Amino acid sequence: MGGQPDGSVVIVGAGVFGASVALELRKRGHSVTLLDPGPVPHVLAASTDISKVLRMDYGADEFYMELMEAAFEGWDKWNEAWGQPLFHQTGMLLLAGEPMVPGGFEHDSYQLLLARGHHPERLSADQIRARFPAWDPVDHPEAYFNPRAGWAESGEVVARLIAEGKKLGVRVFAGAEMRSLIERGSRVIGVRTGDGREFEAEFIVVAAGAWSPSLLPQLRDLMWSTGQPIFHFQVEEPESFQPPKFVVWSADIASTGWYGFPALDDGTVKVANHGPGRRQAASEPRHVDSAYEGIFREFFRRSLPALAEAPMISNRLCMYCDTWDGDFWIDYDPEREGLLVAAGGSGHGFKFAPMLGPIIADVLERKPNRFAHRFRWRRRGELKTEDARYS
Ligand SMILES: Cc1cc2nc3c(=O)[nH]c(=O)nc-3n(C[C@H](O)[C@H](O)[C@H](O)COP(=O)(O)OP(=O)(O)OC[C@H]3O[C@@H](n4cnc5c(N)ncnc54)[C@H](O)[C@@H]3O)c2cc1C
Repeated sequence: MGGQPDGSVVIVGAGVFGASVALELRKRGHSVTLLDPGPVPHVLAASTDISKVLRMDYGADEFYMELMEAAFEGWDKWNEAWGQPLFHQTGMLLLAGEPMVPGGFEHDSYQLLLARGHHPERLSADQIRARFPAWDPVDHPEAYFNPRAGWAESGEVVARLIAEGKKLGVRVFAGAEMRSLIERGSRVIGVRTGDGREFEAEFIVVAAGAWSPSLLPQLRDLMWSTGQPIFHFQVEEPESFQPPKFVVWSADIASTGWYGFPALDDGTVKVANHGPGRRQAASEPRHVDSAYEGIFREFFRRSLPALAEAPMISNRLCMYCDTWDGDFWIDYDPEREGLLVAAGGSGHGFKFAPMLGPIIADVLERKPNRFAHRFRWRRRGELKTEDARYS
């Protein structure tokens, strides 16, 4: 039945992109098969972590703010539906490396928030010290607090999406690693796994995150995987690192990449750096460079002195799937009928989880979606304009 117009879909990869579109397509009546090497959520998936930042602050980029406004509505609904909330709206402290002036990330985000009717609060160094006492604002003379932000228990969210999908009839194969596509002429009709099984469908969606460019050679010049360090530290008094005194934060993120989270009740504090990272294949062994711990502690000594000597519990190299322009990649392969790519999270995809399923499903069904144009297939260096296909 492979390739027949029966609306069946095989999705490769059960991270947040794959799990959310599996659920959405099933709700729309498709027959859906979700493949992953497993167990799911996969321990090496970018989506599998204790926390991810949810923010709408994107400098002057109104597109992502609007997309996140819609995603926050989705997170609120998920929280309500799930009983146990997995999105925690702590607010976010965005510290600027210099006084906030036009062109700076914090300034432009702040102005756009105001323009779109949000309520960020601008803070001087003294106000930062008074309200968020763990911070020494020696390197951050200004900041703003955005109450509409927080973090999500990302691994739990993916587990929930997969469980809901299964309940509705998504067929999940958690020991199925795609090796190759099955093609008939110019049409992709299925997927062959490492153990020789074949899964055929009308549509194949490759949503394998950082593994995608290894699976599809046509992506290699368009996106690549980079390793990014995450550290977990232990604090003795978690309440000093919890809201309202300590919230999700970024510190001059556009220049330095620093961001982090409040303490969990067991005292775990996660801090990470969002940067160019190190290019390596997702399947290569993952080692955090030993120099990183010193770099983290140097930052703490100046800005978060109470963390400077905190014991490190663990660290991890997590793989981004960076596209050449930082926008996600959600479109049909223009040269292979039936094949759709949904990847390229570029280090910022998780927060949009409630919107990912509907966007990917609309693209698959060739329905208009006001956000999809930004994620369409594009040549490297191509200027992006509105695309009539999506309006
Ligand atoms: C360190 C780090 C910090 C981040 N912080 C944030 C943040 O704070 N906020 C935010 O919004 N975003 C953040 N992101 C980005 C976000 O995590 C990603 O954009 C998103 O999780 C990507 O989801 P995905 O489904 O594309 O990929 P993944 O979650 O990696 O899932 C891909 C899946 O494909 C499967 N797979 C691989 N190969 C095969 C195969 N051959 N066959 C079948 N299945 C396969 C894998 O097992 C995996 O389950 C961060 C990312 C990293 C790495």
